[in-house]
Order: sequence, then C-alpha cells, then structure tokens
Amino acid sequence: MISEQLKAEANHNKQDFAVETHLSYAQQNNSAWMTYLAQIERVKPFLGDLTQYIDTLKNPKRALIVDVPVVMDDGSIRHFEGYRVQHNLSRGPGKGGIRFHPNVDLNEVMALSAWMTIKTAVLNLPFGGAKGGIRVDPRQLSDAELERLTRRYTSEVSHIIGPQKDIPAPDVGTNPRVMAWVMDTYSIEQGHTVTGVVTGKPVHLGGSLGRVKATGRGVFVTGCQIAQKIGLPIAGSRVAVQGFGNVGSEAAILFAETGAKVVCVQDHTGTIFNEAGLNTQALQQHVQQHGGVAGFADATEIEAEAFWDVQAEILIPAALEGQITAERAEKLQARLVLEGANGPTYPEADDILHRRGVIVVPDVICNAGGVTVSYFEWVQDMSSFFWSETEINQRLDTIMRDAVADVWNKAQEKNCNLRTSAYILACERILMARKERGIYPGK
Ligand code: NAD
Repeated sequence: MISEQLKAEANHNKQDFAVETHLSYAQQNNSAWMTYLAQIERVKPFLGDLTQYIDTLKNPKRALIVDVPVVMDDGSIRHFEGYRVQHNLSRGPGKGGIRFHPNVDLNEVMALSAWMTIKTAVLNLPFGGAKGGIRVDPRQLSDAELERLTRRYTSEVSHIIGPQKDIPAPDVGTNPRVMAWVMDTYSIEQGHTVTGVVTGKPVHLGGSLGRVKATGRGVFVTGCQIAQKIGLPIAGSRVAVQGFGNVGSEAAILFAETGAKVVCVQDHTGTIFNEAGLNTQALQQHVQQHGGVAGFADATEIEAEAFWDVQAEILIPAALEGQITAERAEKLQARLVLEGANGPTYPEADDILHRRGVIVVPDVICNAGGVTVSYFEWVQDMSSFFWSETEINQRLDTIMRDAVADVWNKAQEKNCNLRTSAYILACERILMARKERGIYPGK
C-alpha cells in the first residue's frame, strides 16, 4: 500500500529526484526502509499541523557511498562498499553506529539512520540520526585487514563526520577497538587528538564507563518498567533471546540475575534450549571463546524456526532487523517483546501483536541505552571530565525511565501501541525543530 502511494507521489512529480530515489529503494519489498516509511505513515494522523513537514523524515538529508580499497595480507587488492547516511540533523549532530556485515546496503543504512533520528528524539538527546556501514564479513578478515579497512573507510567519510557534525559508534560487527581506529585516523587527518568524534571507544581513550553494557541494560530497564505496568513479574518469567552479542548477552544476564529463566538463545551458529534456564554468564564466556552459542554444554540444540514457538513470557530479538514476520507474530508465545535489535518487527506483524495483546517495547526506546551513554561519553569528552560508573548508570536509568513513562502515557492518551506513541513524541520534537529552523533559502 505504501509503495502504491509512493509511486503516485513520484508520478505527480517526475522532476523530484529525491522522491524517485526514495521510491526505488522503497520498492525493495520488505526492506528496512519500507518498514520505516510504513511506521512514519502510521504516525501522520497524530501530528496535526506538523504533518506538512513530514517529507523531511521520508528523505535522508545526506547519503554518501564510498569505495574502500584494501590491500589484503596476500598482497591482492579488494574493494568494499561503504556508506554513511545522515538522515536528519534538525536537532543536532548526527549520531549512529557503524555496521560491518555482509548484508549492509544503502537501503539498510538509510533505515538504521532514520531510526536513530527517531531514537535520539524520543530520548530528547541533542542529536540527529545517522548510520554507517561496510558490506563485509569481518570474520573473514585478519585483524590487520580489518584495521586497514576501518582506517580507509574513516578517511573516505572524514569530511562529513566530527564531534559537531556526526559522531559514529559501534554496531553489529564493530566494537571499541574499531572505534579506536576511527578516532585515531580522524585525529591524524585533523592534526590533533579528537576523542569526541566517536563514542563506544575504549575507556582509556576517552570512552565512558558503562557504555559496553548500556544497551543491554536499557533493554532490561525498559522491559522491567513495562512488565510492571502489565502485571508481569520478572522473577520466574521465561525469556527467549535472539542474538547473544553485545546487546542480547548483557540483557539476558540482567534478566537472569533478577530471577528470570533464560530458556532459549539463538544466534548465527545455532539455537539452544534449556527449560530450567541457561547459565547466561557461562554462555557469554562460551560465545567469547567459540564465536557462538552452538556447542554450549547443558542445553539442547533445536531447529532455528522452533525459536519462535518457544514458551516464554518475554522475547528479546537482539540480532538483526526483519525477524518478526506476520507468520511468526501469529504464533509466538510471549506477552512482552523487547526490541533490542533495530527494526526486528515488520509493520504487519506489529498489528498482529497489537491485536493479540502482546506488548512490544519498540527499538527506538528499548535499545536506546547505548546512544544515551554515548551522549554521556560525548559530553565527558567535550568537558574532559569523567563520571563514575554508578553516576552513569543512575543517569541512564533515570533518562530511560522518564522516556518510557512518557511513551506509555502518550499511548494511553492516544489509544495506540507503544511504537506509535514513541514516534508521535519523536516526530513532534523533530518537526517542531524543522519548523522553527525554516527552509533555506526561502521564497
Ligand atoms: P553484535 O555483533 O554484538 O551481536 C549480534 C548478534 O546477532 C550475534 O549474537 C550474532 O550471532 C547474532 N546474529 C547475526 N545474524 C543472525 C541470524 N541470522 N540469526 C540469529 N542471530 C544472528 O551486535 P549488537 O551490538 O549486539 O547489535 C545487535 C542489534 O542491536 C542490532 O540490531 C543493532 O543495530 C542493535 N543495537 C545495538 C546497539 C549497541 O550499542 N551495540 C545499540 C542499539 C541497537
């Protein structure tokens, strides 16, 4: 339906290159960008006069595609495609991770950057939304190749990033070590050390305490708050987690520590199950040693698709986008879905879950713990004054709890699901900024 609407828009305005470009990406069925556009369509009826500015959100402000040539260890040269998309900068510098994954393409990076725009606005952080990535399987590269890839990519995008322009961070396939290379390369090009150009750095390079665990912690904090609202006790609840990387593992550990049973975990290597609850700390060590959950002792391996049938009150998709399809939404057993990943639920699946009374805590609030502590890191770098981990966690919990309360209250007021209410809050803030800044040049 959305694609028909976009086609009509493009036909009406053949000269509008932006609309045509955006149509060609949106036409890729079930793409992440399509999902985002459908989410924006759903919020439109709630925006009143601000709806006139909505097209601002349907087009990325700036999208850069870069060729990244890398000299491989054997002396050959390989070319990788890299991206940096700044979706919206109305409220401040761009903010968003860098993804290294074989499926990265412009469509995905556009959607991920747009979700960052919404996320920073829901949390009321003074940032816009951006995202970057390289289409590469980092597991196939040696450490030296990965470093050369990262440094060349950084050099190619260096003219559009910076502490006041756009501040990258880790995402799937990248980590603090990669951020250190980004920071170092950018600093060399500037001629002085610029710690504030990236967040998620190692702590001794201006990184923030608490950043590594922040996203998982945010999933836990938001999950507990909404669980309380719907009368679901955490202790004794069963939890199923897809993705046991940075986000999934930290969230799972916190739920397990609070008395929940993490009964099923799926990652790219397999799906493991234990009705009595998995030892999440031991599983994290196993993943660090073996690269995935497969082969973990004290668990049964089950078929990948069976993950969606597991009896668990809480489901945490914390891997990639596009996982909860309409079919899976019809059968899954959870009462509460906590979107650790970005964009894991298709719009039609959202409707099904809403009809079935399953509460979805949307990505733009649920996994915002990372960007919130990234904001703290940026502030600390700018002021060269660093906070304790206790201080960071307290501030994180307060910001997230307040934002969740706002999202919950807005959903009650507008009689909509939590995703739409989060989008209402975010779009009001972004479009108000758009309105107040005006369009340059004017008439
Ligand atoms: P990560 O690279 O640390 O972990 C990714 C996990 O997903 C791994 O366990 C991997 O095995 C699993 N996975 C990959 N492909 C899979 C597949 N086909 N089926 C099942 N599992 C699969 O990444 P991360 O940082 O934990 O990010 C996970 C999600 O959270 C992403 O959507 C990311 O955008 C989102 N996110 C991350 C952060 C952050 O701070 N790291 C912040 C906000 C959102």
